[in-house]
Amino acid sequence: MTKDQSLARSLTRRRALLAGAAAVGAAGTAGWLASVAGEEPIRPAAPAAGPHASRALKPSAHRLQPLTGYGPPRAAPRRTLIRRKPFLRVSGRGRAMVLTFDDGPDARYTPYILDTLREYDVRAMFFVCGEMVAENKDLVARMADEGHVVGNHTWSHPLLTRLSRRRIRAEMERTCDIVEEAYGERPAWFRAPYGAWNRATFQLGADLGMEPLAWTVDTLDWTTPGTRTIVDRVEDGAAPGVVVLSHDAGGDRTQSVLALRAYLPQLLDSGYFVTVPERKYT
Ligand SMILES: [Zn+2]
Repeated sequence: MTKDQSLARSLTRRRALLAGAAAVGAAGTAGWLASVAGEEPIRPAAPAAGPHASRALKPSAHRLQPLTGYGPPRAAPRRTLIRRKPFLRVSGRGRAMVLTFDDGPDARYTPYILDTLREYDVRAMFFVCGEMVAENKDLVARMADEGHVVGNHTWSHPLLTRLSRRRIRAEMERTCDIVEEAYGERPAWFRAPYGAWNRATFQLGADLGMEPLAWTVDTLDWTTPGTRTIVDRVEDGAAPGVVVLSHDAGGDRTQSVLALRAYLPQLLDSGYFVTVPERKYT
């Protein structure tokens, strides 16, 4: 255990989160960033207006800067580019993989996923729904304590492409608010329900300071195909930069919980390090 990690034990949750990010960097992830092939920004977004504008000035924004120290000055406004496509994978050195769990938190399944991640000392991403956070704030606080990244998956999991801009914004913004309340920071990542993106979701996500993240490997765990099938899909799809999609809510997720217990140690034994992406600054 490093000196920093020792200190973290006595710090507040948010400061523990900072130390967690540092530990991830120490594991070799510093400098690798999410990327999407052929992606070109449409135009830089204006700095967030309204209550979010002050966010970039908070000390907590520092956590989102690249750990290599090439980030902008801490006082610089956070600019989020408007993407045309979501990130599908992460790139950078090493055999990094990212595990993501959507639709939760759910008190029946999420604690077991967190237990497994803790047992193997790895960090993951949870794309949460606001209405689930409202019922399970303690689990989101635990995610913060244990260094996981919490992303925005809307409030009620609608098909955003059928909603007005006003309703899309409400779905996203309300979720940002409750994540901040439970997690201690506003989310830096957004994932559209059903992977249904459109221009409005990219624009509004950028307005709210979030980057869009999709996935590389879909376990289709929500179809309850059997634990072995989920494990096989992860192991067959394993490769450097892969982002894996699973679910910790939305139905009986027993298979998802059990599959993680099987594939996580096997990924680690195969030389992958399971971690969370850096926020990209451009
Ligand atoms: Zn979902």
